Amino acid sequence: MSEQIERSLVLVKPDGYRRGLSGEVLRRIEAKGYTLVALAVTTPTREQLAEHYAEHEGKPFYEPLLEFMLSGPVTAAVIEGQRCIEGFRALAGATDPTAALPGTIRGDLGRDWGLKVQQNIVHGSDSPESAAREIAIWFPAGV
Ligand code: ADP
Ligand code: MG
Repeated sequence: MSEQIERSLVLVKPDGYRRGLSGEVLRRIEAKGYTLVALAVTTPTREQLAEHYAEHEGKPFYEPLLEFMLSGPVTAAVIEGQRCIEGFRALAGATDPTAALPGTIRGDLGRDWGLKVQQNIVHGSDSPESAAREIAIWFPAGV
C-alpha cells in the first residue's frame, strides 16, 4: 500500500451539534490518528447547502435535507491522513443510523426519528474530488 495522504471534509450536522456531540466526533477522529487541519462552527446558507448536496437535487429527501441542515449551526472540519476519506466513512457508519453498526458514530449515537430525512450526525466526503469541492464550499478562504 503506497502513500495516499488525503483530506476530507467532515460536518457535524445540526442534530449532532445541538446534542453536543461535536467533541465526541472530533475525539474519534483524533483517536483514529487523523489530523485536524481546519475547524469552524458555522450556520450554513441555502446556497452553500445546494452546492454541497447538488448530487441529491430532485430526490424525495432533498428539501427535507436542506431544511434540516438549515436548522442550526454545524461544526465543519478538514481532516488529513493516509486514506482518511474511506477511513472517516468507516468511522461514520452506514447512512441509515438504524442499520449503522455499533462502534460507528451513527451506530452508537444515531437513531431513526421517524422523519423524512435521516438525521445521522455527520457528513464525510466520499472521494478526493468531492473532498476538494466540499472543502472549498465550507472553507472558502482556503485551508
Ligand atoms: P452519506 O451522508 O452517507 O454520504 P448520501 O450522500 O446518500 O449519504 O445522502 C446525504 C444525506 O441525505 C444523508 O447523510 C442523509 O442525511 C440524507 N439521506 C440520504 N438518503 C436518504 C433517504 N433515503 N431518506 C432520508 N434521508 C436520506
Ligand atoms: Mg454522501
